[in-house]
Amino acid sequence: METYLVGGAVRDRLLGLPVREQDWVVVGATPQAMTDLGYRQVGRDFPVFLHPDSAEEYALARTERKAGRGHRGFEVHSDPSVTLEEDLRRRDLTVNAIAETTDGELIDPYGGQADLEARVLRHVSEAFVEDPLRVLRVARFAAYLHHLGFEVAPDTLALMQSLSDSGELETLSAERLWSETARALDTQHPGVFLDVLDQCGAGARLFPEWREAHNAREKLARTAAARAGAELRFAALCSGLDTTAVDTLCQRLNAPRRFRELAGLWAALESDLAAPGRLDTSSRLQVLERSDAFRRPERFQQLLTLLNLLHPEADAEFWHQALARCRSVDVAAIAASGISGREVGARLRAEREKLLD
Ligand code: ATP
Ligand code: MG
Repeated sequence: METYLVGGAVRDRLLGLPVREQDWVVVGATPQAMTDLGYRQVGRDFPVFLHPDSAEEYALARTERKAGRGHRGFEVHSDPSVTLEEDLRRRDLTVNAIAETTDGELIDPYGGQADLEARVLRHVSEAFVEDPLRVLRVARFAAYLHHLGFEVAPDTLALMQSLSDSGELETLSAERLWSETARALDTQHPGVFLDVLDQCGAGARLFPEWREAHNAREKLARTAAARAGAELRFAALCSGLDTTAVDTLCQRLNAPRRFRELAGLWAALESDLAAPGRLDTSSRLQVLERSDAFRRPERFQQLLTLLNLLHPEADAEFWHQALARCRSVDVAAIAASGISGREVGARLRAEREKLLD
């Protein structure tokens, strides 16, 4: 049996980028031979194994045939006679279909190196259209490699368009959608992900909320330039949406709660946060209360970081001090003064409001 390094590790090393993880393909082996060597099988649908020590992924060489709708609608064929070339052919992009032997020799039957050189993201074969996830993957790679000058080949974009038109994108699970989107947001040029999806008709189907939202994309770009975390980037992209739209979007994407909450708060409070001078004391207090700043100061800090990045002219310091002042009100003393629970709340608010003038 032969083992080859494949996929992102080969691609990124050839580009001089840091390698994040290594994927391997194994030719000429059976599942039994792998488990005998101590590998642990993880794929239920595909013959994928984890190395006993490194825990890296080793997949048996396989071919795939479309047998149903959607990302998982495949008949997988894997046996020791499947060749490396056959396995590389089922991959999405030529730049992802280069294999490297343990001696460092490259095996590149589909012109991946030439496309790396030419900065082109190109499908390996017409079978590209069999998996709608590839639309998102290509858009993500376009974002990830944009700073090096990569672009999607026109023919590939046309195949992405036909995938979008086919309605297959709608079969993607929320988990898949989220994992590709989150990874794309974390690249240097996350807006390119959305641009490419728009170019092939997928943007309108997958993220109608973000279509044509130029202002929000500009804000996304600013958070990315500042290397802000993915939660902040996502919230920036939700600028200008109403909270119902944020909820619908997050539900469709199955976005983790911390993303959903920050984006919802930002969407609701951005304009108030940006202009405290226009608010009366009661509205100022409401901003602190709605964002749960007293119990969740770290999340309030995230909102202020967004404020700094997206409204540099705004007075973020005002909010720091507002929170600190409100926290100086002695809740225990009010509670101990013998008044009813409801009155404690009212008194607390009144004391805090006085400090927000
Ligand atoms: P990353 O740097 O994000 O890990 P990667 O290219 O290594 O990028 P993986 O998801 O780790 O991506 O997959 C490893 C390889 O498997 C890819 O390079 C590609 O050759 C192939 N591959 C993964 N998913 C698909 C898919 N949906 N369709 C076709 N080939 C795929
Ligand atoms: Mg990988």
